[in-house]
Amino acid sequence: ATPAALIVGIGRAAEKGVFFKGGEQLEQLHKTRVVLMDKTGTLTHGQPSVTDIYLGEHPLVRSHKDLIFFVGSAEYLSEHPLARVMVDYAQREVRIVRPADFSSVSGQGVRAVVNGHVVLVGNRRLLEAYGVEIRGTQSQVGDWETSGKSVVWVAVDGRMAGIVAVADTIKPSAREAVSDLQRLGMQVVMMTGDSVDTARAIARNLGVDDVLAGLQPEDKLRAIQFYQKQGHGVTMVGDGINDAPALVAADVGIAVGTGTDVALEAADVALIGADLEGVVHAVRISRATMRVIR
Ligand code: ADP
Ligand code: MG
Repeated sequence: ATPAALIVGIGRAAEKGVFFKGGEQLEQLHKTRVVLMDKTGTLTHGQPSVTDIYLGEHPLVRSHKDLIFFVGSAEYLSEHPLARVMVDYAQREVRIVRPADFSSVSGQGVRAVVNGHVVLVGNRRLLEAYGVEIRGTQSQVGDWETSGKSVVWVAVDGRMAGIVAVADTIKPSAREAVSDLQRLGMQVVMMTGDSVDTARAIARNLGVDDVLAGLQPEDKLRAIQFYQKQGHGVTMVGDGINDAPALVAADVGIAVGTGTDVALEAADVALIGADLEGVVHAVRISRATMRVIR
């Protein structure tokens, strides 16, 4: 590989808002055949809106306002896209408080102490991990999930208090990027910590080749290793929230713009905007560069 050709390639990519760390990353990218894409914040905007609220039967949570008070307060310190939308939603209607204690459970949700009450907000797995009994909502939740909504469960003091359904929108550039990558011979796989039904609804809409759902952050790592063991070079595209380790483990990690600082540190390639066409530019330029070199 001639250094001059690599420098030209890096420069051409930068003109399109695609920043390679160096020539090595440009060379690596042309060898990958699988693109794993994170869902929330990568294929979708990660700026969802609250669409439905289901109120459980809880002595402390008797109205929608009670529920969103606990949800907004518990999520106040989280940087997850789902958290931000629920905080904004709550702040429009109630005065939320800063939680006395807060911890985030990666890929599951948050645990916080709000006005002396232990509040859990996250996926079903989170509530189950804390031994919260889940009841009486199956058909409702099923309908939300098959229409692609993310379902957020809420428990207060160990008892289910309600459910919030959140709808995210697919980035306009996502569908075209998926089909362009497929035309370039890449296998495109969507990865997400969200539930299987929600993920499938969105995957169908995007036309990806495969979907892996219900993943913990460490499962995202394993998925990468799985494809690598099959002899495929793997490109991972993510925003760094719960997927920074996967960005590092992939042969090439691409961080979408508007992601986190963590993502930028973990990535081999950074896109300046949220637009996924940058991934296609990156692949095209790496291939064109390597053709010149050989
Ligand atoms: P993705 O893989 O789609 O980017 P994440 O790995 O960030 O999603 O999160 C996986 C799942 O964990 C989410 O779909 C959501 O159900 C739950 N979750 C994670 N963080 C939060 C949070 N702060 N509040 C509510 N739910 C959360
Ligand atoms: Mg994400």
